[in-house]
Amino acid sequence: MATILNEAGSTRSEPGSGSGSGPHTSAPGSRLGSGSDTPRSKNATSGKPLRNPCNICQTVRAILKRPKTGQQLCKDCFFHVFETEIHNTIVDNHLFNRGNRVAIGASGGKDSTVLAYVLKLLNDRYEYGLDLVLLSIDEGITGYRDDSLETVKRNRDQYQIPLLIVSYKDLYGWSMDDIVREIGRKNNCTFCGVFRRQALDRGAIMLNVDHIVTGHNADDIAETVLMNILRGDLPRLQRCTSIITNDTSDDSSGIETSKILRSKPFKYTYEKEIVMYAYFKKLDYFSTECIYSPNAYRGHARVFLKDLEAVRRTAIVDIIHSGEALSASVQANESTKLPTMSTCTRCGYISSNELCKACLLLEGLNKGLPQLGIGHTSKIRRMHGKDGSGTSSLSTTTTNSPELQVAPTFKAGSPLATESSGQASPAEVKILHKNVMANKAAKAQKPSKTAKKAARAGLQDIKYSAPFKDMALYTFVLVTFCVWRLYAAVSGQHLGMGGPNSKENE
Ligand code: SF4
Ligand code: ZN
Repeated sequence: MATILNEAGSTRSEPGSGSGSGPHTSAPGSRLGSGSDTPRSKNATSGKPLRNPCNICQTVRAILKRPKTGQQLCKDCFFHVFETEIHNTIVDNHLFNRGNRVAIGASGGKDSTVLAYVLKLLNDRYEYGLDLVLLSIDEGITGYRDDSLETVKRNRDQYQIPLLIVSYKDLYGWSMDDIVREIGRKNNCTFCGVFRRQALDRGAIMLNVDHIVTGHNADDIAETVLMNILRGDLPRLQRCTSIITNDTSDDSSGIETSKILRSKPFKYTYEKEIVMYAYFKKLDYFSTECIYSPNAYRGHARVFLKDLEAVRRTAIVDIIHSGEALSASVQANESTKLPTMSTCTRCGYISSNELCKACLLLEGLNKGLPQLGIGHTSKIRRMHGKDGSGTSSLSTTTTNSPELQVAPTFKAGSPLATESSGQASPAEVKILHKNVMANKAAKAQKPSKTAKKAARAGLQDIKYSAPFKDMALYTFVLVTFCVWRLYAAVSGQHLGMGGPNSKENE
């Protein structure tokens, strides 16, 4: 049995090999602030009482306080619980099968660097039998991604894991630098996010992997839950709360489709603990923010989350559990219709519409109308017809703009530039153009007093649809829940509503 030598020279069992090791198990006397109540252990060498002993081993002085549980731990015990929690998340959720080829989405940042390090370590320690590879996406952001990719290359050498880098420029003919030059710094992250998701899948196909793991941590997921609830985006709410997703689609056409599993082994891992782990392990990671990262909406969700966490440590996992509960109730509610998945008619990627989001965005970029693909999915569905047939009431409208008669093409040599799918039909371009023009006209036109009066009268006749009622109810429940939790935290009450992880804190 492997053992870990701690700072005092004593030994203990390898994580997972004995009882009591797991994310939901606390060592005796491990509560925050219980240091003074805990009987003081003696120093192993001097025999004197130990000041502030580690809550788990009791033999070494604690050097950190776990953000997730408040436990005061020595370095080795922190490594032990951190790694064991991730191992338990992997095992409890059956993330992998023996022999899987797994791509680790690697950006060079703290999350993916720690993920690569820990997965390799756990794969060796517990003999998962995984074939690990690193997969990086080069968005083409000078002064940011080029530097972070150097870190990934060093990680490749340090951890001895092969690396593949795929770039936006090669896949789409546009780098993020090009896109920002074209569209400015508004909505750039929409393009980047859509392209990255697809690029990861395309890289995974090149690598012939079964599974992609990403470094999304608990904080990221809780932020995304909040954002999706505020946006009323049920499909994304479901996707962001699932620890493992499988975007399957019919590949009978022979076109490439994604059947690759994606998972988030850090779903319950706090960002602060990832930083601590990277720091104490002296891992080589890149910590600069993207130069194009305003992402104001996520920023607000993050600030809100940090405020909640300041008054209640378990706020992050509590929000994740709330998101899971909402997703489950959405799934159970038959009246809530989620989009049916098929494939993009142009590139073959999975999509709920005739064109996938990446193709729509590219179409806008290539036509010099970058705002075409931006907006809510429902708008795009309206443009292309709700059944994905590409027909809608707008499709009969013509445009006089001559350049729109020329269908956009992908860059020659790009994997998207297939013979049958490289061009948009003029009808599709007309629909998109018409929609943009209609939006502009609507914005420019101020409603008259009579129109406002008529609109008010009309509102009284609106019958809310079932999905809308559901979203209103969910938003109400979430806001009430947050206020209730806030009140409880401030008044010191315990409401007994936390998920499994919050039990560590009881
Ligand atoms: Fe892309 Fe925006 Fe992230 Fe920068 S901040 S890498 S532009 S998604
Ligand atoms: Zn597509």
